Amino acid sequence: MEIKITKTKTPGVMPAEDKLGFGKVFTDHMLLVDWNEKTGWHDARIQPFGRISLHPASTVLHYGAEIFEGLKAYRRADGGVQLFRPMENVKRMNRSAERMSLPEMPEEDMLQLLTEFVKLEEKWVPKSFGTSLYLRPFLFGNDEALGVHAVKNATFMLIASPSGSYYAEGINPVSIMIENEDVRTVRGGTGYAKCGGNYAASTRAGERAAKKGYSQVLWLDGVERKYIEEVGAMNVMFKIDGEIVTPMLTGSILPGITRKSCIEVLTSLGYKVNERLLSLDELVSAMESGKLEEAWGCGTAAVVSPIGKLAIGDKEYVIGGGKIGEVTQSLYDILTGIQWGKREDTFGWVYKIS
Ligand SMILES: *Cc1c(COP(=O)(O)O)cnc(C)c1O
Repeated sequence: MEIKITKTKTPGVMPAEDKLGFGKVFTDHMLLVDWNEKTGWHDARIQPFGRISLHPASTVLHYGAEIFEGLKAYRRADGGVQLFRPMENVKRMNRSAERMSLPEMPEEDMLQLLTEFVKLEEKWVPKSFGTSLYLRPFLFGNDEALGVHAVKNATFMLIASPSGSYYAEGINPVSIMIENEDVRTVRGGTGYAKCGGNYAASTRAGERAAKKGYSQVLWLDGVERKYIEEVGAMNVMFKIDGEIVTPMLTGSILPGITRKSCIEVLTSLGYKVNERLLSLDELVSAMESGKLEEAWGCGTAAVVSPIGKLAIGDKEYVIGGGKIGEVTQSLYDILTGIQWGKREDTFGWVYKIS
């Protein structure tokens, strides 16, 4: 795809790397590509970062036709920059698009857009271990009319935000509560798609949990409210009596790339990983009998997030003595080692940009 580049006349400067936080600072440019039914994808351009203008009837503002992805560009110790399994994000973006009746983009084109954008913004990839340039591709329906149907016009965009280390203060296990009222999604719904509405609908439960002093909620399935699905906006894994268990992908669970990578790393280490249904009842008996050894969330932002405490109604269970477990720690070390280029990538996951 040919990309027209208009460079900013007022390049910004990177804030101190320990003051970055997450998603607040943006790079100098943004990328846009338009799509319509007649011409397909066209007019790929990189231009100075700034506000965009939308028609008040734009589909995205009324019917939520929006999907996104999240991945990071990592700075290696040798100064080069790399991505981690970017083709997985590209494929998932297209699966999300298909679910939401938004246009898919040829995989090689999307990968090229990511690559060229990161090359242009390379100075914005921070240098310290744990920091990264967070990449946010997104796509929205943009018909200028109120009819409800698959869109005839859409826009793909890519913005990037230099982000601080998730664990600037060390890896501290989080407290989680079971969510009994709201459900994140249902089978047959949009759970496997990274669509904006899923996050709008799950914010309420997260806010309620925060008020009670918990970092996030543990979601149960939307049909029977019986099986564990995810934790906050992360996939979830458990070590029960030596076995690693993670909820199977039933359609309501987001197929995380970190989840997939954890499974592959654990298998390579000789662990038995079972993707299956895991009921809350089974988890409770494992906690009561002391067989639940470790629990952790996994996702691109945190890599892994150990769960130290789980609340079910008024009852609180401490997991692994409230400390990060051995398996969780090794996953963190191995995955971050590969991502930041400190460890040999025996899986072929790294995609070098420079
Ligand atoms: C993005 C996301 C994940 C994690 O996916 P990764 O590819 O590992 O970042 C898990 N659950 C939800 C709901 C998500 O949106």
